[in-house]
Amino acid sequence: MKYDVLIIGSGPGGYVTAIRASQLGFKTAVVEKENLGGICLNWGCIPTKALLKSAQVYDYLKHVDEYGLKAEAIDKDFEAVIKRSRGVAEGMSKGVQFLMKKNKIDIIDGFGKVKPGKKVDVTAADGKVTEYSADNIIIATGARSRVLPNLPQDGKKVIGYREAMSLPTQPKSMIVVGSGAIGVEFAHFYNSMGTDVTIVEYLPNIVPVEDKDVSKQMERSFKKAGIKIMTSSSVESVDTSGTGVKATVKTKKGEEILEADIVLSAVGIKTNIENIGLEEVGIVTDRDKILVNDWYQTNIPGYYAIGDVTPGPALAHVASAEGITCVEKIAGVHTEAIDYGNIPGCTYATPEIASVGLTEEKAKEAGYELKVGKFPFSASGKAKAAGTPDGFVKVIFDAKYGEWLGCHMIGAGVTDMIAEAVLGRKLETTGHEVLKAIHPHPTMSEAVMEAVADAYDEVIHL
Ligand SMILES: Cc1cc2nc3c(=O)[nH]c(=O)nc-3n(C[C@H](O)[C@H](O)[C@H](O)COP(=O)(O)OP(=O)(O)OC[C@H]3O[C@@H](n4cnc5c(N)ncnc54)[C@H](O)[C@@H]3O)c2cc1C
Repeated sequence: MKYDVLIIGSGPGGYVTAIRASQLGFKTAVVEKENLGGICLNWGCIPTKALLKSAQVYDYLKHVDEYGLKAEAIDKDFEAVIKRSRGVAEGMSKGVQFLMKKNKIDIIDGFGKVKPGKKVDVTAADGKVTEYSADNIIIATGARSRVLPNLPQDGKKVIGYREAMSLPTQPKSMIVVGSGAIGVEFAHFYNSMGTDVTIVEYLPNIVPVEDKDVSKQMERSFKKAGIKIMTSSSVESVDTSGTGVKATVKTKKGEEILEADIVLSAVGIKTNIENIGLEEVGIVTDRDKILVNDWYQTNIPGYYAIGDVTPGPALAHVASAEGITCVEKIAGVHTEAIDYGNIPGCTYATPEIASVGLTEEKAKEAGYELKVGKFPFSASGKAKAAGTPDGFVKVIFDAKYGEWLGCHMIGAGVTDMIAEAVLGRKLETTGHEVLKAIHPHPTMSEAVMEAVADAYDEVIHL
């Protein structure tokens, strides 16, 4: 069987690429060994957001009196919370099935392996191997939870993210190792549900890739919510021989033993690049990633790679954008290379974090002279009315040419606000233009306008 475009993996990289390829007139197929939608829809972005929504509703109920309301016998059903999340994931995966059918894309069930001569072998669940060929083969096999040698996952007491979103019972206590987006989202979810949570982070700040002001605010908010935080600390070993887990944690002050029901390892990802034929074809990899150029071509003509298997941020919207760019280039339609300096990153805990561009530290390191503005949600009418005054918007401009270098937000609903900064930066908008773009009142988005005003000493509500 011969295709124009054959994609291995149906995550937000693979399935979106397939739809765009089909729109461009290519005969397209997707090979998938598990569930359509990949990690994002089944075990990542979507089921975690369903869990976080349950946590948010529960948190609201616990504080209902602050809104002048009364509710009695507030309780939770952990099993039902997990069931809802799994149901949402299942529905999303079915949605991808519908989209594949609608766009006349063939779904090939099984494990795909590239071969020389632009061929792919697919091994079905019954072991039967079928050979396919395609003019363009796109590898989008994604990633899985990274296992550290001193933190081996047994799936029960030392777990990765898949188990963390499908536990049969709620643990009384949990150690979360790593405080990137995945770690803090689970830390917040379990803490809200009533689990005693401790975060252990190797670096000096939690959410370490964020602007330092954001990290500090997150730490304050998490501590206020009852989450224990150990920074500049690392889990050296775990002992699972007893009823729970004993973790030996190296801190600046010496070693400490922490005890918990469960340890969640959230220390990053490992790409799925083993046994997929890369060596046979001669595709070059480096430090666990498939190397590609601006158009996602590997070193072997006709073979491409996109999404988590390639260098760059491991995010769903990045995987999708890479796939679209890749097939548009194959089709020869006008496209442009992705600007990796303008990719938003979001964390959906409470408070939420959203950021794009350079942090203040990185902008200084790059030699810019800065104009920095900040507007706290405690001065926002909408945030006060909503009962969510924690957090701020921080903007960073180049003092010389007015370029919007970075935007960093922490607070309620900020993940839905960052696109303004992404678009503004894409259109090379200056601070003055943001100021003159009237923002609706009362909204959280006014904080962006006010932060920009603060950078130019024109802030009104401070
Ligand atoms: C807990 C968690 C939360 C996350 N939350 C967010 C978020 O809020 N926002 C965000 O942008 N990103 C989030 N991410 C990251 C996001 O899920 C990934 O960046 C994204 O899924 C990568 O897409 P992909 O298409 O490259 O790979 P994947 O989504 O990993 O899909 C790869 C697919 O390939 C299949 N596959 C692998 N090998 C083969 C093979 N040999 N043959 C056939 N099929 C194969 C797999 O079964 C899988 O379905 C989260 C990740 C996790 C783990």
